[in-house]
Amino acid sequence: MSDGIVVVTEADCQKLVGRAQAFDAVEAVFGAMARGDAYNFPVIREAIGYADALYGFKSGFDKAGLTLGLKSGGYWPGNMDKGLTNHQSTVFLFNPGTGQLKALVAGNYLTAVRTAAASSVSIAHLARKDAKVLGMIGAGHQAQFQLRAAAEQRDFEKVVAWNPHPDMLPKLAAVAEDIGLPFEAVSQEELGAQADVIITITSAFEPLLMADWVKPGTHIACMGTDTKGKQEVDAALVAKATVFTDEIAQSISIGETQHAIAAGSIKEGDITPIGDVINGKHAGRASAEEITLFDGTGVGLQDLAVADVAANLAAEQGIAQKVTL
Ligand code: NAD
Repeated sequence: MSDGIVVVTEADCQKLVGRAQAFDAVEAVFGAMARGDAYNFPVIREAIGYADALYGFKSGFDKAGLTLGLKSGGYWPGNMDKGLTNHQSTVFLFNPGTGQLKALVAGNYLTAVRTAAASSVSIAHLARKDAKVLGMIGAGHQAQFQLRAAAEQRDFEKVVAWNPHPDMLPKLAAVAEDIGLPFEAVSQEELGAQADVIITITSAFEPLLMADWVKPGTHIACMGTDTKGKQEVDAALVAKATVFTDEIAQSISIGETQHAIAAGSIKEGDITPIGDVINGKHAGRASAEEITLFDGTGVGLQDLAVADVAANLAAEQGIAQKVTL
């Protein structure tokens, strides 16, 4: 008999897991992955042939944090018309000692907050300390979370943004206003010329940012490319940059480096897990002129890490619903 399964709703996740907790959880799990204490299992993602949906599992085990489980969900393009988010996910956490289900945690908000935490961790460790201008390429659901989290990592004075669909920019501008940062919609070239830190978070299949547009010393967090064929930045920019990632296997197969790898302009050995920087094994940025690039592909262990925070806090604060099977 288990102690009961903690059930944490979307609303409770939003109350319980803030950006700071997500940052700490994601930073810790990236460190554990680089030490070999935590590993992701092969991802399953299938077109199910119904409702145009893509459905899958991301799972893993963190031996350091004792987090075992999976995130199940995917993408239902028709959801928007039903008043629902197109991306849907739920996290299942198991007791690694017994295999019993421990928690069932809503995953939609957590996905956004853990993805924003990943780029924030990269900015914290790799961006120049004197970065002043934040560049945003992308203005969808994730972009709003990305902007809020990134803004906390440096003393940014301004946000410059470009999006393939300009009509989406006002929502991002409203976030900038809410956090007290001036916002300017600019061309892609202008964004590259001004920004010290650039986040890309789109569903693009063609490069939106070319190597020649980016100035020396920029840190770029490529967060949108999480599938074979997607691409947000010029492969020549990836080749020019010092490249870090959450997980090398994902980066070269479904992440932003897939194109530079295919072109032969970089090798797997040129990519450093960001966990090595977190663990002090790699120095990170080597000079003020170096272009650093973080390829955030999104790993299941990130989801488990933030879901574990939500489940533990919900239990501690007595707001968890409990069920037994
Ligand atoms: P969204 O639908 O809310 O926004 C989509 C964004 O991509 C917008 O900026 C839109 O203008 C742009 N876009 C749409 N179609 C495009 C096209 N054909 N070419 C170029 N740009 C296009 O989506 P979202 O939830 O903000 O997600 C954005 C991206 O981030 C998606 O690709 C998603 O798969 C990815 N994502 C990655 C992670 C991760 O961990 N790395 C996590 C969640 C989402």
